[in-house]
Amino acid sequence: MIDFPKDFFWGAATSSYQVEGANYNADWWEWEQRVGLAERSQDACRHYELFRQDFDIAQNLRHTAHRFSIEWSRIEPKKGEFSQEALQHYIEVVKDLRHRGIEPIVTLHHFTNPFWFASLGGWLNPKSVGYFINYVQRIISSLAGEVRFWVTINEPVVYIYQGYISGSWPPQKRSLGLARRVMANLKAAHIQAYQLIHDFYRQKNLPRPWVSIAHNMRVFIPCNPNLKNRIAVAIRDRGFNQIFLESLLKRGFLDYIGLNYYSRDLVDIENWRWSSLLFSICEKGHSNLPRNYLGWEIFPEGIFILLERLKKYNLPIFILENGICTNDDSQRWEFIRQHLQQVHRAMQQGANVLGYIYWSLLDNFEWDRGFGPRFGLVEVDYKTFARRVRPSAYKFSEVCATGRLD
Ligand code: BGC
Repeated sequence: MIDFPKDFFWGAATSSYQVEGANYNADWWEWEQRVGLAERSQDACRHYELFRQDFDIAQNLRHTAHRFSIEWSRIEPKKGEFSQEALQHYIEVVKDLRHRGIEPIVTLHHFTNPFWFASLGGWLNPKSVGYFINYVQRIISSLAGEVRFWVTINEPVVYIYQGYISGSWPPQKRSLGLARRVMANLKAAHIQAYQLIHDFYRQKNLPRPWVSIAHNMRVFIPCNPNLKNRIAVAIRDRGFNQIFLESLLKRGFLDYIGLNYYSRDLVDIENWRWSSLLFSICEKGHSNLPRNYLGWEIFPEGIFILLERLKKYNLPIFILENGICTNDDSQRWEFIRQHLQQVHRAMQQGANVLGYIYWSLLDNFEWDRGFGPRFGLVEVDYKTFARRVRPSAYKFSEVCATGRLD
C-alpha cells in the first residue's frame, strides 16, 4: 500500500484537435485532405459540443485536475480576426471545470496551427512569435482569473522532430537547418508568453501563475555499451531530452517542469552515419518488454529514472502525460499501476511531484495514426459518439479519490 500526498493532483488530458472535431481552420485539417490521410479527424469525439458530458465523467471518476488545449485556429480563424464565440466556449469550459472542483491545466499550443499561420510559413516565419503572442494575449485576458496552470507549448521537440526532421507531420520538411530555426522561434514564443502571463497576473494582482511547457522525455538505453551506442545515446539524450528544457531552465522561464513520458528506446547502431546515430534502434529482439498497440516498449522504471534526473533542477514536476494505447484494458490498469509505483518511489527519494495526468481521458484522433490506437480511460464509439467508461478508469478513480495505491 502506498500513499500520495493529500494535495496531489489526479486527472487526465486531451488536446483540442484530437477530440473536438470539425477543426477545419487548422493546418492539420488541410493537410489530412491534401495527402489523403487514411483516417481523418473529422468529428473526432465531438468533445466541442459534448464537453459537459465528458467532464461529468471526469468528475464521477474523482479527477481533481484536467488538462486540455485551446484551438488557436478557432480563436483566430483568419489572421487578425478573433472569434468571440470560440473565446466564450473556452471560458465556459474553464468555468465548468472550476464549478466541479477540477483544476484546469490549459495548453496554448498542442501541435496544430491556424491554416493562415501555416500558409505564412508557420514557425519558420520571423513574425510567427508575434502572431502567437497576439493570440495568447486574448486568451490570458479572458481566462487569467480562473486558471493557475499554463502550458505554453506541448512537446516542442516532438513537434520539431515530426514536422522538420522525420517529416512525417505537416509541414513535412526534413532539414536540420529549418529545425533549428523553428526551435529558436518556439523558444522565443514560450519566453514571451511566459513574460506576458506573469506581467498580466502581476498587474491584476492575481496569485502567481505556474507556467511551463509539456516536455516529452524518452529514456535511451544502449543495447550493449560499445562506443558507437554510447555516443548515439549521448547525442539523442542531449537533442531530445536536454537542449530545449535546459535553455529555458537556465534563463528562469519555467515555474515547474511539465513531463510527458511514454517509453524508452533501446539504442543499437550499425555504423557512424548520422541517420544511424540519430535513429537506429535495436532490431535484434534483445528486448522482452511488453509493448503497446503502436509497438512502444512499456518501461515503467523510465519514469523513475527521469524524475530522479529532473530533481537537480529544484523545480516541482507535474506529470502532464503518461499513458498507453491498447485493446486490452487490463494492460492499461497494469500500466498505470506500475508507473504510479515508480512515481511514488521517486517521490520517496526526494522528487517533488505535483500530480499525475493520464493520457487520455477519451479515445481520440492519434494524429497520422488515426483512430486505431486507443489511449482512453473512456472508450468512444466513433459512429454514435457514445462514451463507455473502462474498468481501468474505475480502478484509477479509486486512487484519485483516496490518494492510495494498493
Ligand atoms: C502527445 C499527444 C499524443 C500522445 C500519444 C503525446 O506525445 O502530446 O498528442 O496523442 O503523445 O502519442
